[in-house]
Amino acid sequence: MVSVGEEDLRKRLAVAAAMLFSEGLTPGSSGNISARIPGTSACLIKPAGRSFRDLRPEHFVVVDFKTRRVLRGLLKPSIETPFHTKLYNLSNSIGAVVHVHSHYATVLSIAGIEVLPMGMDIYRAPALVQGVGISGYAPPGTEQLAQNIAEAMRGRAAVLMPHHGATVVGRTIEEAAENARVLEELARLNYEVLQVGRPQTLPSSVLREIAESAGSGGLT
Ligand SMILES: [Zn+2]
Repeated sequence: MVSVGEEDLRKRLAVAAAMLFSEGLTPGSSGNISARIPGTSACLIKPAGRSFRDLRPEHFVVVDFKTRRVLRGLLKPSIETPFHTKLYNLSNSIGAVVHVHSHYATVLSIAGIEVLPMGMDIYRAPALVQGVGISGYAPPGTEQLAQNIAEAMRGRAAVLMPHHGATVVGRTIEEAAENARVLEELARLNYEVLQVGRPQTLPSSVLREIAESAGSGGLT
C-alpha cells in the first residue's frame, strides 16, 4: 500500500530532477536523487540509467536504507545506492540526497580547491556556509566511495567528489536540489574570482548570521 505521503514525494522528486536537468547539472543519464519516506527506514531513489529529464513519479524505487533491499519497484535502483543509503543512516535530519556531475564543482575538486561562501546565492543555501568537504577518490558505485562521502559529509551539507562531481543533502528534496544548484553557482564564482585575484569572503559576522538562519538545516 503506497501512502499519500509517498505519492506526493514521488511527484516532488520528479519536479526536482527536471529542475536540476534544466540547470545543466546532470548531463545524459548522470547523477542521482533520493528522498527519505517520512516515518519509515526507506527511501525513494532514482532508477539506474535514466536521465533526470525523463523521470516520472512512478519510476522511483523504494529501498530500505538499513538493509539496502529493494522493497518496491520494477526498475533497478541507482548504482550509487550505497552512498545514498549510508547518508540516511548518518543523520535523521537528512531528508534528501542529490548527486550531480556539475562542471565547476568537479574542476575545483580535482584541484583540491575549497569552495568558499560568497555572493548573494549563499543566502538561498545557508547550510553551505559550514563549508564544503572534499572526499577521497573511489570509483563510482563502490562501498569505498560511500565511506569516503559519509566521512567528508560529517557536519556539512555538501561534498565535492574528485574527478566525479558533488553530493549534497537537505532536510527536504527541494532544499537538497537548491543546495546542489547553489553549490555549482558558488564553485563557478570561486573559479572566476581565482582568475583575477584572491577571494575575499563575506564578513564573518554575516556568515554567522547566515549559518544561524540555516537552523537545523545545518544538519550538524
Ligand atoms: Zn556520479
